[in-house]
Amino acid sequence: MTESAGSGYPSASFAAPVLLALALAFGAPRCPAQEMAQGQGPAPRLASDPHADSHIAEAIRQVSAERIRQTIEKLVSFRNRSTISAEDEASIKAGTGIGAAREWIKAEFERYSRECGGCLEVKTDSFTEPPADRIPKPTEITNVYAVLGGTDGEQAKRIVLVTGHYDSRNSDTLNGTDPAPGANDDASGTAVSLECARVLSRASNKVKSPATIIFLAVAGEEQGLNGSKHFAQMAKQQAWKLEAVLNNDIVGGDRSSQQDASVVRVFSEGLPAAASETEIKRIRTLGGESDSTSRELARYIADVGRSYDAGVKPLMIFRLDRFLRGGDHYSFNQQGFAAVRFTEFREDFNHQHQTPRTENGIEYGDLSKFVDFDYVAHVARLNAATLASLASAPAPPANVKMQTKDLDNDTTLTWEPSAGAAAYEVVWRSTKAPDWEYVQTVSRGTRATLKVSKDNVVFAVRAVGAAGHRSLPVVTEPER
Ligand SMILES: [Zn+2]
Repeated sequence: MTESAGSGYPSASFAAPVLLALALAFGAPRCPAQEMAQGQGPAPRLASDPHADSHIAEAIRQVSAERIRQTIEKLVSFRNRSTISAEDEASIKAGTGIGAAREWIKAEFERYSRECGGCLEVKTDSFTEPPADRIPKPTEITNVYAVLGGTDGEQAKRIVLVTGHYDSRNSDTLNGTDPAPGANDDASGTAVSLECARVLSRASNKVKSPATIIFLAVAGEEQGLNGSKHFAQMAKQQAWKLEAVLNNDIVGGDRSSQQDASVVRVFSEGLPAAASETEIKRIRTLGGESDSTSRELARYIADVGRSYDAGVKPLMIFRLDRFLRGGDHYSFNQQGFAAVRFTEFREDFNHQHQTPRTENGIEYGDLSKFVDFDYVAHVARLNAATLASLASAPAPPANVKMQTKDLDNDTTLTWEPSAGAAAYEVVWRSTKAPDWEYVQTVSRGTRATLKVSKDNVVFAVRAVGAAGHRSLPVVTEPER
């Protein structure tokens, strides 16, 4: 599908499923969970319950494949964006090297901000990386980011973030001068960050998100995830309420014949990188290996993929990353944050980390001509819909507990109220199911008893805002 594809969006009946669910909870003669327990029919299947916000749907329609093409080609024009390439004034003026790329990205964010009446705060995070394997001398590294502040004083402390890396490399990690176009790796991900900033800042007069969205472009990825490490550590040290990180790296949809442009892979860690020995023991006891906060984020993206017509569907991969490769999401995972990686379905390794050349009839190099700009636009739509949905939703419920005092085939769950929540939903799935299967609305209070055995399923609770936006689900902790 191309940019003009819009007919497939869910209609403006956004609130209808919520109203229906509320009506069921208040006035229906039987609650669906009881029906299931009594063998009279299943609880509502989650997958058949899409929920889209018409303002968010309209915002993501503004994502432009043509703008994304311009961004990627501009980034390629800086010739070599290696972290160790030039960043002196003369090179910036000449438009070569990572310094020029950095200044251009900053200017783009500033332009978007002017267009939305100053709604974005544009910032940099600079530091000097000491010499290491891939850093021959002390090197200044700069992350550039734009902040779209939330509308609610307290809720605005909650943050969701999208990132891509704007540094590039060719066949030699230590070459900062010869062409290293990095069109797919990772001008494509940088373009997703920029385009999300453009469309969501423009839409911010209609999509009133209580939480804050950060659009980030990092450097140093190819030299050792240096930029993202620094940024994630800063977030941790400053105790940011960073709820979700979307890392886009190699989302260009390389035009090979075996590419599947209908999907984008979403990688998520299983056992959290930041889990202590005690936490790992607890995960082992509970069978919680597939319920890291990163995986809940991946499932949230799957839900967004069902609710909005982005033009591409998320394909969840239950693994941190591809073999022999790493990425910036890991820097955030290491600090205990939920973070996932988006990557095209099939990579062409002749078009990554290669000095452009032709050998034995094979063309090597990460060139713009191999990038499918419509595909990048679809991935940007999925990202923008996810960011806006999360930022519009209430905070995820805290202290979500499952009572395990007595042997009991029913299950009682309790949680603390979330600011901005109009209702809650209990979601659950079979222990062997990859994604949430059932949903039960709880329209009053912060407690629910379900006729479903805790031994056979995994439960989580999510908060629902007045306009139907869902928070990330929080998996239950047993309480004795
Ligand atoms: Zn990359």
